[in-house]
Amino acid sequence: MDRKVKIVVQFSGGKDSQACLIKACNDYGSENITAVFCDTGWEHEETYDHVHKIAEMLGVNLVILRNSKVDGMVGLCTRMKWFPDTSNRMCTVKLKVEPMIDWVLSQEEHLIIIQGIRAKESAERALYDVECSYFRDYFNNEYKGKLYRKRDVKKWCETHDASVLRPIFKWTGQEVIDYILANGQRPNSLYLKGASRVGCFPCIFARLNEIKIVARDEKYRQRVINLENTINSLRDKGNEASFFNKGKIPKRFCLINDNGAPTFSEVADYVLREESQPSLFGNDEPELSCMSLYHGLCE
Ligand code: SF4
Repeated sequence: MDRKVKIVVQFSGGKDSQACLIKACNDYGSENITAVFCDTGWEHEETYDHVHKIAEMLGVNLVILRNSKVDGMVGLCTRMKWFPDTSNRMCTVKLKVEPMIDWVLSQEEHLIIIQGIRAKESAERALYDVECSYFRDYFNNEYKGKLYRKRDVKKWCETHDASVLRPIFKWTGQEVIDYILANGQRPNSLYLKGASRVGCFPCIFARLNEIKIVARDEKYRQRVINLENTINSLRDKGNEASFFNKGKIPKRFCLINDNGAPTFSEVADYVLREESQPSLFGNDEPELSCMSLYHGLCE
């Protein structure tokens, strides 16, 4: 059977995927483009607005994926009675990777999947290929565990091809912004508020400088506090769960939890306190992000 090819852009609402989406429309025609957005239920309202607005402006088909078995970030953390962290990236797996795999497997066409990954983002990303197979890392067991829907993936791959293209791989951040502006659009407004990347608000990997923007916004600050309270109401005293790991801020600022892990309030107070004491922390925190199979899903 001759299959058509569908061109898909993984659209996170961040600037890199926006540039890819514009470029795909310029290169292939917007009527041929499908933008796929994985909704964690934990994004900022401005990101949701931006995703819809850009898709509408470009006239592309927008597909929004949610994991129907998990009620977004809040449902996932509540079910785990814990928060994802570097050793347990369940948020990306359950809220982005698995819904994306489900969607890919539901497609009749071959797929070209465009990802907004740039080499200059990090030394790790610089090692990625400009083109590869979508399931290459999956079969290399980047999942580090039981492969999700392994039999279905193998079967689908027998008759379909899914290739990844990273057309802005060599671009600088400035080139990305310039391209967006030159095409009559604006990047997500969160960048103007100081965000260096957008996506979950906040992301479990957010650096102290990035947390400031959440800390300043009472609505979103309270959202994290409420989630911590909900989860800790299900846990024993002395074994509290925190959105950010132990060690996120100096121990002397972590006074509430018996186990020494900072509450989100403590982290938020700490980052805002730094604004009047600029030397309190530097920019030497490791930049953590999702792994290669996940790239393009989380900015
Ligand atoms: S953006 Fe961060 S918190 Fe959200 S799914 Fe990705 S890694 Fe998890």
